[in-house]
Amino acid sequence: MKTVAVKTGRPYEILIEHNILDRTGEFVRPLTKAIRAVIVSDTNVAPIYADRVKNSLEQNGFETSVFVFEAGESSKRLSTIEKMYTHFFEHNLTRTDIIIALGGGVTGDMAGFAAATYLRGIDFVQIPTSLLAQVDSSVGGKTAVDLPTGKNLVGAFWQPILVLIDPETLHTLPEAFFRDGLGEVVKYGCIRSLPLFERLEKENAKDLIDDIIYECVSIKRDVVEHDERDTGERAILNFGHTLGHALEKLHHYTGLTHGEAVSAGAAMITRISENHGMTAKGSAERLENLLKKYGLPTDTDFALSEIVTATRGDKKSTGKSINFIFLSEIGKCYIKKINTQDFGKFFGV
Ligand code: MG
Repeated sequence: MKTVAVKTGRPYEILIEHNILDRTGEFVRPLTKAIRAVIVSDTNVAPIYADRVKNSLEQNGFETSVFVFEAGESSKRLSTIEKMYTHFFEHNLTRTDIIIALGGGVTGDMAGFAAATYLRGIDFVQIPTSLLAQVDSSVGGKTAVDLPTGKNLVGAFWQPILVLIDPETLHTLPEAFFRDGLGEVVKYGCIRSLPLFERLEKENAKDLIDDIIYECVSIKRDVVEHDERDTGERAILNFGHTLGHALEKLHHYTGLTHGEAVSAGAAMITRISENHGMTAKGSAERLENLLKKYGLPTDTDFALSEIVTATRGDKKSTGKSINFIFLSEIGKCYIKKINTQDFGKFFGV
């Protein structure tokens, strides 16, 4: 078993082990006095894995119930949260009980938000089952739901008490979802780890998935420990995301996954920064080649002017400027503020 300890305001561990799902209760039991546990999952994941988690919790003395919502980003809204609260109430969940998020990013974000807010906050455990959730969204304590006007606009920082990662769950993940996660994996290599980037170049990601998960989680842990509330260094995790978010918006959040959008955003911003002499020569081509190797996009049909216009509404925007993340070279990055009035000159539109 691989273990990553996260020393945020409320410290917790991330355990990575094959078939750890069947041992959920064993690892959760020592951390809580909870009598009841509610497993939150969606219509894709619950039929495959909920029983295994439920059995393990019950063997360790928890009374359990399962709340299942319709799979997909369109469920990530306050009306689903309200149904969750009702389920918690009807199952007598108290402040000392526990919520288990079992699923991908949408599940973790929503169950985490419900945990942060129900009875002013109760404990929760993350069991991410998609590559994206395992390497990225389950670590760091960001929880949120979407509003009709934009993604992740309502949320809270709320750390889990434990994260259990079972790489076996990736075997049931459709290829497109695996690619989605790889977009973020390549990002970690770009911003912090040339060795990870090189391994992804030389080997096949699927053959080293345990190492990849461990590496990415460790990088995210390091960044989040320094900046739990996202006021500084944590911004580097946003490499490729500003243009990526704009692309997702232009695609109306369908047809292009988050990881694909980040992939295209990372390639585009690196081509631009390399042209300005802000990134080591050859970085953009090397990044493009790696992304292509894994079937990830490096460009878009939308005009750069449309994309730049769409970035102005970005959550990270301060109104007058946006912090962009640039690579100085593969494996190293920096944050630079660009004034919105300079966008024309900078992006050449
Ligand atoms: Mg992301």
